[in-house]
Amino acid sequence: MMAERFPIDKLQLIETPFYYYDTELLRETLDTIKAEIRNYPGYEVHYAVKANANPRILKIIREAGLGADCVSGGEIKAAIQAGFPAGSVVYAGVGKSDWEINLGLDLGIGCFNVESLPELEIISALAKGRGTTANVAFRINPNIGAHTHPNITTGYAENKFGIPMRDMESMILHAAELPNINFVGLHFHIGSQILDMDDFIALCNRINELQDQLELHHIAVGSINVGGGLGVDYHHPDQMPIADFRKYFRTFTKFLKLRPGQTLHFELGRSVVAQCGSLITRVLYVKQGDFKKFLIVDAGMSDLIRPALYQAYHKIENITSDKPVETYDVVGPICESSDTFGKAIDLPGSARGDLMAIRSAGAYGEIMASGYNCRSLPKGYFSDELEEYVD
Ligand SMILES: *Cc1c(COP(=O)(O)O)cnc(C)c1O
Repeated sequence: MMAERFPIDKLQLIETPFYYYDTELLRETLDTIKAEIRNYPGYEVHYAVKANANPRILKIIREAGLGADCVSGGEIKAAIQAGFPAGSVVYAGVGKSDWEINLGLDLGIGCFNVESLPELEIISALAKGRGTTANVAFRINPNIGAHTHPNITTGYAENKFGIPMRDMESMILHAAELPNINFVGLHFHIGSQILDMDDFIALCNRINELQDQLELHHIAVGSINVGGGLGVDYHHPDQMPIADFRKYFRTFTKFLKLRPGQTLHFELGRSVVAQCGSLITRVLYVKQGDFKKFLIVDAGMSDLIRPALYQAYHKIENITSDKPVETYDVVGPICESSDTFGKAIDLPGSARGDLMAIRSAGAYGEIMASGYNCRSLPKGYFSDELEEYVD
């Protein structure tokens, strides 16, 4: 039981389920990122807003000086509202609608990460119509696998993302002829929850090859964007609260051959916010099944869908009991068998009313919540603001 992480007296007073964010850990994580890139003036980290767009989280990340990586017009709006400078926004996505492109053009966002030829032509036409110029990078599909869950790999040729490598050069040459398009660089993103640096080394090697090829044809590239994907330790949130950013950035420094003057962009989501968030839920019932005991809690897959969607592991703790350990399946109230947070979990003996923390839930948690079963969306509470909520 890691109860000291949680101000239990205060959490007891808040209606469950809810997300609880440790802002101190978030700031430490951001400080670590900043310290690791301090010696590399050409490095720029954009926070992947899709991991968590809670306004307070965005504000803290913006205050730390990160840029924003968006995948929809709504995310661009959320980023701007939180104070991210438009020039720091990069915008990816295979299906950008006209209003989203126009929004990016009107705000003057830093870069559109373009994923197809038809998209490039629409951006060119819309930019021309508005008398403005769009900075574009091409998202190249490097046909590299990340050793992670199949639903979160994006860099294989069979995935819907990016432009095939064989079309890279013709796209760049075509862009040079389009009005109101400014080609700035190449973009990649191979997947998420990547802990094996070999995957990033493979990406570096691929980018080096592509850059050699472009250099042969005297095509200049201003920036390289290697996307995000650094994983976190879901099994040891207390021992490894901050991802190994040193190892991550040094992998690129060592293996990626940047050309003179090139900037290097990163788009980190999960590794920035996952560990600072927990889903706090209360035990409703302890039910004895034929073969096992079920701990039925008041949070469900509508609050945190990762276990149901990706068979994702989250550490589960009972933060208010210190009784002898028993083994439970921890399940939610929703009418789906996949509404299960963990099977055969050893926990202190648990009873109705106990508070549970589902850890490492800061990324792809609150933002993926839905109203399924007509449930309310969970709220987010912050460690440095608890006094205000409970007074
Ligand atoms: C999701 C996404 C990211 C962030 O991925 P993480 O695994 O959360 O770091 C970065 N770039 C793009 C284009 C994405 O779609």
